[in-house]
Amino acid sequence: MLGNLGRSLSKTMKKLAGMTIVDEEVVREVIKDIQRALIQSDVNIKLVFNLSKSIEERALNEEPPKGITPKEHIISIVYDEMVKLLGEKSHELVIDDKPYRILFLGLQGSGKTTTIGKLARYLRKKGFTVGVVCTDTWRPAALEQLKQYTEGQDVSIYGDPQNRDALDLAEKGLARFQKKDVIIFDTAGRHKEEKDLLREMEELSAIVEPHEAILVIDGTIGQQAREQALAFRKATDIGSIIVTKLDGSAKGGGALSAVAEIGAPIKFIGTGERIDDLEVFDPERFISRLLGMGDLRSLLEKVEEVSEEEIAEESLDAILSGKFTLRDMRVQFEMMGKMGPLQQVMSMLPGAGKLPKDASRMTEETIRKYLIIMDSMTEEELEKPDIIKHSRIRRIARGSGTRNEDVKELLKYYRVTKKAMKGLGRRKMGGPMGQLMRQFMR
Ligand code: GDP
Repeated sequence: MLGNLGRSLSKTMKKLAGMTIVDEEVVREVIKDIQRALIQSDVNIKLVFNLSKSIEERALNEEPPKGITPKEHIISIVYDEMVKLLGEKSHELVIDDKPYRILFLGLQGSGKTTTIGKLARYLRKKGFTVGVVCTDTWRPAALEQLKQYTEGQDVSIYGDPQNRDALDLAEKGLARFQKKDVIIFDTAGRHKEEKDLLREMEELSAIVEPHEAILVIDGTIGQQAREQALAFRKATDIGSIIVTKLDGSAKGGGALSAVAEIGAPIKFIGTGERIDDLEVFDPERFISRLLGMGDLRSLLEKVEEVSEEEIAEESLDAILSGKFTLRDMRVQFEMMGKMGPLQQVMSMLPGAGKLPKDASRMTEETIRKYLIIMDSMTEEELEKPDIIKHSRIRRIARGSGTRNEDVKELLKYYRVTKKAMKGLGRRKMGGPMGQLMRQFMR
């Protein structure tokens, strides 16, 4: 995430961790590296300067607490100060009324429509019913975009491309979705300037009476985000912010620190174009990941979303012992469907090894297809995949409405994964890694 910033910061931390002696010179060198990385990420120069000063003062004057080496002490100071740069606190989205009404704002192209789709999915996964009202009268395609993006997510969308009256649309949508837990209002955002954006908010607010207004800011604009956030902050006390496009953005660090500096709550960040690429923003977790310190909490949170009974503990035991059946693979697929690609989940583990390449290349579509195929198998076939030969393949393909080749492809994938899992089990799953996997599959 954040492309180069993450890379250079984790490199700096690794370098520091590898030093035998930590003296003044090393501290200054580390600070220089951090400065360079932050400035490249468009973090405001004053903020960078203050951060450097704090790190230097603390590193050179504070005594390390008992049991902490000077090196560990400096690492923790850098971590602390970086977390402060991002505002320290995390701000949760709390749905405490029904229907909870959220008004979305954002300049055109900021990622608003995409983010609404992601948030709707996030809320659905938490068990809330969601309706989205599209009041964008400028861009009829927005409605289509929303529908496509939320397809299969059990999210209701309301809009009417013939209706040119945004306020009327809002009113109708509000009436239609009274029974939902959450209603999200998409707005046009067809403005050049913040003040027009805020006027749109005022007009729609009078009808919608939102519990929360969310401003979507494009993270690639860097520290310019400050102006947008500042204007928004002034206009509403029920405002929160989502910063998008932080995947690989060269200026994302600048955007986040600028918004944090003025004290506007960043609730989520967008980290990609896929529907699952939305993360709850937590400065501590974010920084530990940016510094390459691993991120267990991020992982555990995703895990919580996967309900317990759906994931059998035996399945993990089977994987670890190398006794990996198609039934176990089905459990894995169901999990991947909920948490995103395994590769992404695994990347949150400190020092995690990579899964077989095939596993990361699996698209959601393929996973869905494979699940349907496995639904057409008998218990015996799931338990003993080796018995699946010609006539069974034909029957399964017919039953699932797929081709013989699809079934064969699935069986091939199964064999490759089984082999890889066996290796993974022996080499990596014994120690802490095994415990973690166990935790996250429970
Ligand atoms: P809107 O005009 O504000 O509704 O913006 P859209 O939702 O249509 O998004 C504009 C573009 O940004 C689209 O191409 C999205 O795929 C892309 N986008 C949105 N969020 C993200 C993100 O978090 N990461 C990346 N890489 N692209 C994003």
